[in-house]
Amino acid sequence: MFKHYVRGILIVVLLMVVMPMALAEEEEIAPEDRIENWKGKTVLIFTPHPDDDTFQCGGIMSILAKNGNKVVLVIYTNDNKGSLDLEMTSERLARIRRREEEEACKVLGVPKKNIHWLGYEDGDLEYADPQRLRGEAARFIKIYHPDAIFSIDPGEEHERWHKTDHRMAAFITQDAFIAAEWHLYYPQHYLDEKLESFRVPLVYYYYTTAPNYEVDITEVIDKKIEASAKHVSQFPPSVEKYTPDMPKETYAGIDAHFKEMHKDGDRYIEIFRRLVNP
Ligand SMILES: [Zn+2]
Repeated sequence: MFKHYVRGILIVVLLMVVMPMALAEEEEIAPEDRIENWKGKTVLIFTPHPDDDTFQCGGIMSILAKNGNKVVLVIYTNDNKGSLDLEMTSERLARIRRREEEEACKVLGVPKKNIHWLGYEDGDLEYADPQRLRGEAARFIKIYHPDAIFSIDPGEEHERWHKTDHRMAAFITQDAFIAAEWHLYYPQHYLDEKLESFRVPLVYYYYTTAPNYEVDITEVIDKKIEASAKHVSQFPPSVEKYTPDMPKETYAGIDAHFKEMHKDGDRYIEIFRRLVNP
């Protein structure tokens, strides 16, 4: 009974992170230009909640960190609403979600100091001041001058099913690319902090319906699963009645689900829409 229940909840939770695996024709990219082969670069990942990054990009995050790249996260919300536990409070949930994200990132090789929290309330990103939000995102682009950015795909088809926070994070990050490029948007970034404008050269979109790039994550699939399972409060039984411990059955369910989701023949892959900024 418990197993069925766990499976049912897991399907609900994880359906939100399942992506179609059909890949458009992948363009020819020189091996040294493939992100999974990068060394010494900087990658900025924008995520609406502290788990979308792990579920969608955990494999490439782990590979990038292992290869000596700097992986930095900007997390829009504190994810403090998604609990069915009647004794849970938003303040406590925010603390739990923060700790879980830090633990997940640690498994993937990303230190706590590389995680930036914008601190918006879960579900409220749509209601934040867009101009201010865009400036906050653009500021991080100007601080890090990243070689690539990861963000939710704002593509047309996607907008319809994107949940709250995801829609806004997708559009705001996209708009921040443009704002970061021109110094007259948010001139205070330079005047106050000497942050120079920057043109984002390359974007990898996750939660995409038009993937054109795949990364072999076979060597790190277990790391990705371990990191995903650090988000204990997102899964049963913790989502119903919080406990910091995850039952073996839940871990096994996550393990099976992620392996199925990422399976491509005899390997595991993550998929993205790669866009070179022309
Ligand atoms: Zn999310």
